[in-house]
Amino acid sequence: MTSIDAPASLSRSTASSPAAGTDPSGARTARSGTGTRTAPSGVDPAELHGPVLAWFDRHARDLPWRRPEAGAWGVMVSEFMLQQTPVVRVLPVYEQWLARWPRPADLAAEPPGEAVRAWGRLGYPRRALRLHAAAVAIRDRHRGDVPSDHGQLLALPGIGEYTAAAVASFAYGQRHAVLDTNVRRVLARAASGVQYPPNATTAAERRLARELLPDDEATAGRWAAASMELGALVCTAKNEDCGRCPVADRCAWLLAGKPAHDGPPRRGQTYAGTDRQVRGRLLAVLRDSPGPVPQSALDAVWDEPVQRGRALDGLVSDGLVEPLDGGRYRLPLT
Ligand code: SF4
Repeated sequence: MTSIDAPASLSRSTASSPAAGTDPSGARTARSGTGTRTAPSGVDPAELHGPVLAWFDRHARDLPWRRPEAGAWGVMVSEFMLQQTPVVRVLPVYEQWLARWPRPADLAAEPPGEAVRAWGRLGYPRRALRLHAAAVAIRDRHRGDVPSDHGQLLALPGIGEYTAAAVASFAYGQRHAVLDTNVRRVLARAASGVQYPPNATTAAERRLARELLPDDEATAGRWAAASMELGALVCTAKNEDCGRCPVADRCAWLLAGKPAHDGPPRRGQTYAGTDRQVRGRLLAVLRDSPGPVPQSALDAVWDEPVQRGRALDGLVSDGLVEPLDGGRYRLPLT
């Protein structure tokens, strides 16, 4: 997901890591149901489909955005929220969001600041503004219905390649490579034989994911969800549970003896003391207030004035906070 579109997933806390070796050049080629595939490890990727899909049938979580009643809007909302935020934190906010705004037009009718307020503590609140902007565009350009066309989805504000593919696949059953953090990790290990995918999604990963797609749309959609779920529940970033994994007998990384990661250091996630934390504190003051707040209310939540000022400036320039006359601030009305 770029823009907000940095793949996350069913537990889309970031877990991507560097790794070499996802470039399949030089690997043996393997024949599968969707054509010639490359598998640096010697594992035939097509052999992954059956076990992973069968495992998914037995172990998939019952999540509200997977139910038929969620519709395309529910899928889209979940995809925005799940980027960089784990399922357990998303669930209550998702439920409240859909109850309040069951259609894109319902959200579009309210000020963007209400989306920021309802976003609560999900983090990375620019996603709320982008989801609001997407709802406005859906109302204005698509008569209020989330488009099914991948290109039209991609043209919506805040939607990048990952989200467009995810919505088209999960909501409309289309055949797209849905390459989120969890899927990337599963493919890196099971097919490419390395512990972690690169920090940023590469062309080689996209090619491999496309090559791995089952031929028919229905199976491709299930494969996207199933491989994502496997990464979220079993092949996790730090504690992969190979004993419960349906592809343990053909996982390239496991078969190679789990060679240690030898790429660049993995990106860490720090929060305490960062500008992100200050922004979160400032925004919480505004979310909790029904109207504008004075500067003094913001000053009270962070002692260090230079960092506080920088964080507030950032919120204003991001459109998350609106400065008013008299040193007051509020969530954006427009
Ligand atoms: S066998 Fe282990 S490392 Fe390989 S895909 Fe399964 S959980 Fe991940």
